[in-house]
Amino acid sequence: MISLGIEGTAHTLGIGIIDSKKILADVRKIYTPAAGIHPREAAQFLSENFKKAIDSALKESNLNFKDIDLISFSQGPGLGPCLRTTATGARALSLHYKIPILGVNHCVAHIEIGKFLGKLNDPLILYVSGGNTQILKLKDFRYRIFGETLDIGIGNMLDKFGRETGLRHPAGPKIENLAEKGKNYIELPYVVKGTDLSFSGILTSAVNKFKSSKFSLEDLCYSIQETSFSMLTEVTERALAHLKAGEVLLTGGVGNNKRLQEMLRKMCREHKVKFFTPNKYCSDNGVMVALLGLLMYESGVRQKIEDTVVKQRFRTDNVEILW
Ligand code: AMP
Ligand code: MG
Repeated sequence: MISLGIEGTAHTLGIGIIDSKKILADVRKIYTPAAGIHPREAAQFLSENFKKAIDSALKESNLNFKDIDLISFSQGPGLGPCLRTTATGARALSLHYKIPILGVNHCVAHIEIGKFLGKLNDPLILYVSGGNTQILKLKDFRYRIFGETLDIGIGNMLDKFGRETGLRHPAGPKIENLAEKGKNYIELPYVVKGTDLSFSGILTSAVNKFKSSKFSLEDLCYSIQETSFSMLTEVTERALAHLKAGEVLLTGGVGNNKRLQEMLRKMCREHKVKFFTPNKYCSDNGVMVALLGLLMYESGVRQKIEDTVVKQRFRTDNVEILW
């Protein structure tokens, strides 16, 4: 069964094509604004690139629409204008070519691609992206949230710090590079409540420290990473101890960060637990959407066009996991 997935919840237009469990195409077009993401401009970017991206993915896989058995798209969570643009494109293709359509949860897609590539069974999941920061584990047919941010997502904190300090969006990778040159740890608010976290205090404090001109940007980047990643590692370790998982999966865009991977890998080694991160598939992509759509379709999930309305606040634990 050949599944085409369309990702477009925010900054990335991703088109993925998979044949059962084989990746045939992975096309990504990324909107990189000077400052933060402007929802309407991001949506404009998605619509301008939609046809080009679909054509490239078909070319990459040597297929055309008559070969496609299923069209899936990210139904939420995400930015309203982006979600509506992506859903409109997916519906148009489905109706025109008479191919079944499925709207999928973006966060669950991030999890499933990690489980698939890592051949994981039942991992504890640390999902860290721009808007989301969650610790999850499958229980009674749902990815239950055992801990999450109480305010902003960690990626959002990094990107906002970048905006205040002149780093182009997305700031996460730039902060990672600058942090390698940092030498002095500057204390920042470390806020962990059980398995929940808060990042807005780090942002305010780091921005104020930057504006005071008393600290170097490199030292601040280093300190932001050490503080926030220690918080993530602490809550993951706490959840691991309670839930007794045998595997840890790191997924979502911030999962690309080598320092975060290093901290988690070390913690997992101490607990004799397998650690996995899907590397380039941590970031938003269409392959994860194609995969989740396929898993849902094979478990008997079907949707009509009227079921494909976007869900801006679609929670990870709203989805029944039937596979
Ligand atoms: P996603 O929406 O899942 O693609 O995640 C996007 C977020 O990941 C943005 O906030 C980026 O700044 C962040 N990000 C991407 N690469 C890195 C990195 N190497 N280190 C830290 N954050 C990153
Ligand atoms: Mg994402």
